[in-house]
Amino acid sequence: YVSKRKKCTVSVYDAAKRQFREEHLSLLGDLKEALNQEQLTLHYQPKVALDGSRHCEAEALVRWEHPVRGFVPPFEFIPFAEQTGYIREITHWVIARACIDGAELLAAGTPVRISVNLSTRDLLDAALPAFVDSCLTMAGLPKQYLCLEITESGVMEDPDRALETLHALRNMGMALAIDDYGTGYSSLAYVKQLPVSELKIDRAFVKEVVESEADAMIVRSTTELAHSLGFKVVAEGVETQEISDKLHELGCDFGQGYFYSRPVPLAAFAAWLRKYQGL
Ligand code: C2E
Ligand code: MG
Ligand code: MG
Ligand code: MG
Repeated sequence: YVSKRKKCTVSVYDAAKRQFREEHLSLLGDLKEALNQEQLTLHYQPKVALDGSRHCEAEALVRWEHPVRGFVPPFEFIPFAEQTGYIREITHWVIARACIDGAELLAAGTPVRISVNLSTRDLLDAALPAFVDSCLTMAGLPKQYLCLEITESGVMEDPDRALETLHALRNMGMALAIDDYGTGYSSLAYVKQLPVSELKIDRAFVKEVVESEADAMIVRSTTELAHSLGFKVVAEGVETQEISDKLHELGCDFGQGYFYSRPVPLAAFAAWLRKYQGL
């Protein structure tokens, strides 16, 4: 009986694996098309200064509008793109688009620094800094309007090569941010060795910061340490006024989340920005 059950489990597993493989094979073809046919698009979400200064930055978040599957969220295709090597093309597309959009916002009188997410593989690409530079030049965007978000786990994969890429970007004058801080085996002792200027505290510590003394203490002490190391602190996933107020009280510099704005297409973001800046 045991062996029969085992066999049964294996075949179900195989079938599931095959279906997974087939679905991903077709997704792979589709991803190629997506890049060729401009099915990718960027949405923008503000990172808002909590000191009331009306200063803000923005994060570019990729979306895939698939003709049949509809809207495919990044967590469904970014990991897959990483495994298949397509991530490089996606990252290139995202950086180029973000520079063009940034230049448009600058020309419209609403300059804003835009952050782009890098994945692990991007950090191993020695040609990335030169690519970023050429995108800035082509778009006519001054480099202070671009920031790159990385995760610690991304750096840990191959620290030597990743650090080389990061230092090259930093030497170009690019701003770098640590994303999702607190989720991995992160420690500020490690982060302080990275050439970054911004720390984004993960939503996991933010969502209950009003109710949970422990979370509030984590946010406060992380913020204090980060400040003493010279980092700016951004809190992710701010969904209410109460959370926003609490984060300000705890010393965070910026908040990002649905409370200020959901990620929206460029035109809607530009409209939000004008209103926010009182134009
Ligand atoms: P992330 O970089 O940490 O981005 C923040 C995510 O939190 C976004 O999800 C955003 O829509 C979501 N979010 C923002 N405010 C709130 C809030 O108040 N509440 C909640 N519950 N969620 C909020 P999204 O757009 O689905 O992206 C997920 C992840 O996919 C990103 O996490 C990032 O790691 C990755 N990603 C997105 N765009 C790109 C890209 O262009 N390249 C790469 N390599 N990764 C990307
Ligand atoms: Mg991010
Ligand atoms: Mg994040
Ligand atoms: Mg996150």
